[in-house]
Amino acid sequence: MGALLETVLGQTTAIETLLRGLAARKTHHAYLFEGPSGVGKERAAFGLAQALVCEARTEQGTACGTCSACERAVPLDGALPRHPDVIVLQRGLYDPSQIGRKSPESREISIDQVRTLVLSRSAFPPHEGLAKVFVIRDADELSVSSANALLKTLEEPTSRTHFVLLTARKAALLSTILSRTLALRFGHLASSVVAKILVGRGVEQAAAEAAAELSGGSVEVALALTDPDARSEVESFVARMHEARVSPDAGLGYSLAEEGKKGKSELPSLLAGLSISLAKAANDATRAGDFEEAVKSTVRFDLVEQAIVKLRGNGSAQLVMEALVIGLRAT
Ligand SMILES: [Zn+2]
Repeated sequence: MGALLETVLGQTTAIETLLRGLAARKTHHAYLFEGPSGVGKERAAFGLAQALVCEARTEQGTACGTCSACERAVPLDGALPRHPDVIVLQRGLYDPSQIGRKSPESREISIDQVRTLVLSRSAFPPHEGLAKVFVIRDADELSVSSANALLKTLEEPTSRTHFVLLTARKAALLSTILSRTLALRFGHLASSVVAKILVGRGVEQAAAEAAAELSGGSVEVALALTDPDARSEVESFVARMHEARVSPDAGLGYSLAEEGKKGKSELPSLLAGLSISLAKAANDATRAGDFEEAVKSTVRFDLVEQAIVKLRGNGSAQLVMEALVIGLRAT
């Protein structure tokens, strides 16, 4: 298995901060790992958990990577970690009956989950004595009441208790949570790094490079794009959106808004492809000294990002698409 923290690529600043904390035995009690999905936040979170529960830490405070605790601290293939002191919170992760609910958590991480997993444990020391580590996936989905229930624990944690909150939408977190956590930024990865990670996962070099180029620096997006059909669908959607934006024929836009009917499962990845191409256009324009075009591309990029956020919320897919096409045509 090895020490997971050492396998996070391309996030030097964040990882060095964590390593310095481990070396000084001063790991912060509540981190917020923020940045786009698929760039290493989760790997770093479980890497940190591993270092904190390891039974044979190195002199630098890092995980040995081979002891039983190290192996059990890391979730494998979507399963939960087997270590009793590494606890994952995520909307919908648990069967309602496990967390004392009757209905599934459809929109938020419920207060029931926080009560069952965090508060009920707070009076007890770690099972295996070293540390308790709570990893909260998509922490922006904490409900107001569950976030409030966490505040006291975040502020005055019992010793040897650590939280790692993960989010791709830092702005959606309550300010009270933000002020009690230490934020570490995980940025987009260089496409060469994404390609290297894909090759490490068995993707053939040429396919890895092609997918990495379109991925916007996210391993998650790149992996989805290694499927040639998925890649060509994204490329065609992006081309049609750009055409609808510049075409004098508004009808083209309306027909694209119909794509809203595809629904919420498919659209976010198509829109992610569009936002990546706009970010690239903004960078290219800046490099070419065309600042007016760079600003326009940035505005368009923001419109697409907002649309993605609305799709994740409860906006109607078709209305979101319509508003987006109109917004893009107006810039
Ligand atoms: Zn170990």
